[in-house]
Amino acid sequence: MKVLSSVKERIFIYSMLFFAVLSFIVSVSNSVNRLDFSYNYKWVLICFVSVLFIVLALKVKNVSAVQRIAVYIFVWGILPLSGFTSAGLVAPSLSYTFLLLIFVSYLMKGWERIFLDFSVIFINLAITVAFMKFPESFKTMDAQEQAFDWLVTVPVVSVFMSFLLIVFERAYDKERKLHKDKTDRLRELSFTDFLTGLYNRVHMEEKLALVHNIYTRTGAPYTVIMIDIDFFKRYNDMYGHPAGDEVLKKFSRILKNRITRNTDWVYRYGGEEFLILLGFSDEKAALVVAEEIQEDLKKECIPHESSRIKPYLTVSMGIASVDNTAADPRDVIKLSDVALYQSKETGRNRISVSNS
Ligand code: GH3
Ligand code: MG
Ligand code: MG
Repeated sequence: MKVLSSVKERIFIYSMLFFAVLSFIVSVSNSVNRLDFSYNYKWVLICFVSVLFIVLALKVKNVSAVQRIAVYIFVWGILPLSGFTSAGLVAPSLSYTFLLLIFVSYLMKGWERIFLDFSVIFINLAITVAFMKFPESFKTMDAQEQAFDWLVTVPVVSVFMSFLLIVFERAYDKERKLHKDKTDRLRELSFTDFLTGLYNRVHMEEKLALVHNIYTRTGAPYTVIMIDIDFFKRYNDMYGHPAGDEVLKKFSRILKNRITRNTDWVYRYGGEEFLILLGFSDEKAALVVAEEIQEDLKKECIPHESSRIKPYLTVSMGIASVDNTAADPRDVIKLSDVALYQSKETGRNRISVSNS
């Protein structure tokens, strides 16, 4: 048996289950009371059809087609048939009509819903008019039979309506939560780098614009630290690409552990390049952060035998603050890149601060 995925599918099954149980109870009680079969055949029919649709909905792939056929049979088949035994005027037929309208409104869409709604109204009207013109051709129940019919159907219908609403609310809430979780996850994914879990450049552009805006309005500076792993190509060549990936992850964890303020962000800028954006900070503050990161990495002591400068992994950094260039956040990045290049040129494993 398959899992019913959508709210509509579940509501359909529960409605069919309801019709099946209701019609079963009524047809049994009618039989016990020795009511003429001409009153009872519609209930037997509803019971049979409902069970059939439950089985179909659970077996067939295209549940919406089953739903559509069911709605048409319940409106155009069973409604006129049942009208002839209860004259379309007594309670069970009214409650059936009411249920049917809910069913149509919920399961059908657009013009088809309007067509079926009007079908229900039209069929009821036609039965009522026919009853007025030719009352002798209808099998109306006597007072006792009607009273009994009321007693059985009305409580069952009311209980079912409440039950259906609860099921609907729960299913709807669940579906909405699922949808929200998915959207949140997608949003998160669109902002993060897959390998390291750090933020990516999409996020960076957004935050750069934000801190730059704050800077132009309040003068509160922001600073960028550009980081590049030294001799990383050689690391890959010596230890293999998967080991290189592990190093990128390890270094990312070091960065994440250091950058904890909610106005600071760490990015994977490129392959083995990282960028830290520090809001409300100048070069001095950035230099402290950069030195701490260098210390952390040194403590970690990741072996790098093919490095030309140290037997362990090192990084070079470049720092630039917006104070040096008020023009554009892009200029700040460029300057940090220039500073990084200086660190590379002057022997690597060091931090340079842009002073232009
Ligand atoms: P330098 O000290 O001048 O920075 O030298 P380098 O070898 O680190 O710099 P280069 O730009 O020549 O090489 C960067 C290397 O980073 C090359 C590339 O294979 C590696 N790399 C980039 N992205 C990834 C990645 O996602 N995983 C792994 N394992 N390696 C990567
Ligand atoms: Mg590089
Ligand atoms: Mg490098």
